[in-house]
Formats: sequence, C-alpha cells, structure tokens
Amino acid sequence: MQTGLLIDMDGVIYRGSQLIPGADRFIAALKRERIPFMFLTNNSQRTRRDVATKLERMGIQVGEKHIFTCAIATAQYLAARKPQGTAYVIGEGGLLHALHRNGYSIVDHSPDFVVVGEGRTITLDVLERAVNMIMDGAKLIATNLDPNCPTINGTRPGCGATVAYLEAVTGIKAFGVGKPSPIMMRAARKELGLATSQTVMVGDTMDTDILGGVQMGYRTVLTLTGTTKREDLDQYAFGPDVVIDSIADMEDPLSFFAHSLPQGNREDDTVSSLSEWREKQLA
Ligand SMILES: [Mg+2]
Repeated sequence: MQTGLLIDMDGVIYRGSQLIPGADRFIAALKRERIPFMFLTNNSQRTRRDVATKLERMGIQVGEKHIFTCAIATAQYLAARKPQGTAYVIGEGGLLHALHRNGYSIVDHSPDFVVVGEGRTITLDVLERAVNMIMDGAKLIATNLDPNCPTINGTRPGCGATVAYLEAVTGIKAFGVGKPSPIMMRAARKELGLATSQTVMVGDTMDTDILGGVQMGYRTVLTLTGTTKREDLDQYAFGPDVVIDSIADMEDPLSFFAHSLPQGNREDDTVSSLSEWREKQLA
C-alpha cells in the first residue's frame, strides 16, 4: 500500500538555519522512491516559493508543490466559507498572497474577517482597529494558535499570542485553522491525494503535529530534535505511534515503513465511492 508523509519543518528538517544531519539524505530518498510528501508549516509569513527558496539555500531542492502553509489552509477555508469575501489582515506576504489567490480582497474597514498571522509590524494601532472590527461583527480567524516559537536567540511571540490579545479585549473566541486543526491536516492530505490510512505525520511538537495527526487517524512519528524530549511524553494522554531520535532514522524510508511503522487503519478512510459503500452496507 502507498504511504505518504506530511512533514513539519522547524525542529524536524532544520533548526534555525541549520540543517539537521540526515535531512538532506531523507528528502533525496523520498524523491528517489517517489514517495508523496508535503512540508507543513504553521508559519503564515512566507509564500510557498519563499519556503522552497529557504530550503534550497540549506541544500534541499523541492518544488513549491511540496509546501503547504497555514496561510494557504486559511485562505482555502475562507474561500469555501465565503467566496469573494473581504479580510483585514494582521500578517505578511504569505498570508496576503494566499488570500488574494483565493479571491479575497484586503480591506481596512468593515471586513468579513479579521485574519491573524505572524508579522513583525504589529502595532497597538493595528490591534485597536482589529478590535473595533471584531466588535462590529467581523469574524476572528487565526492562521494558527501557536503561542510562541523558539528561535536561536530565545523565543519569538507567536500568532497565538496576538490572537489571545484580541480575544481578551473583545471577549470573542478566534477560530484557528493551522495545525492541529483538522482543516489544515485534511487539506494537506487531500492535496497529496492520499487516503487517511496512507498518511503519516512527522513532527517535533506534541500539541500541533502529533495531536493533529492523532485526531485525523493518521499515523504519527515524533522526532526528538525539536521541542519535545522523551520524558515530556509522560504528560500527554495521547502519543505518537513511533518516536525517533532524529530524521536520520528515516533515511531509508521504505525500510522504516516496513519495519518501524504500524499498518494504517483502512477503516478510517473516507468513502470515495458511494456505490461501493452501499454495496458494503448491503453485504
Ligand atoms: Mg516543528
């Protein structure tokens, strides 16, 4: 059976601008073996092309079709929820680009949605405007709810912190789209053309990557090169299917699938043919 991978980047493939040893060989093997894969990031700042360029500079050549961001998930969701809508955006290029591509207009008064991503240009003035729009009925959408992001210098406040600020002022809860939301987890799988039982999520963060995968019925692989230590696992009621020390443990993906990964549960697959499903019910 075909197996494909959704792969988190920061803490799995690289840390800061440093490639994690073995990541290049892992990606080369995925390409050689024609294993479907998609990089998933909860950073809405960059476009697909920006992310591909960042990877390229670290020595990993992948096309834009292998990149899926929470900005894209958010824009696709909003386009389905309200086609040709309007948004006030607290965020940067990746989010603006994704919204435009999905038929959205960016406005600075009376928007349908206030959409929050990461950015370094947030001011009290921007937040105050957003607050008043939300109070006037605009819906609050978070590209992700990550409270912070580890950097080489320490910690960067995340999109979730900005969202928490807006929630505290308005008393209105945001709707989050990025990992672990099933919206992003499912959209990425569909873009890869995989069934649930064929999908494996590889990540370093329990509350986003692993939780998201578990909720979708994907198999999950936790790598210990990022935010989670082995002893942290005790604090969680849910857990990954497999724990690896580093992505180097997956350098031979076919052998990893055969020997270290449990079988996918086909009972979890979406019904793709209604007539097939009816037949099964009658049998
Ligand atoms: Mg990560």
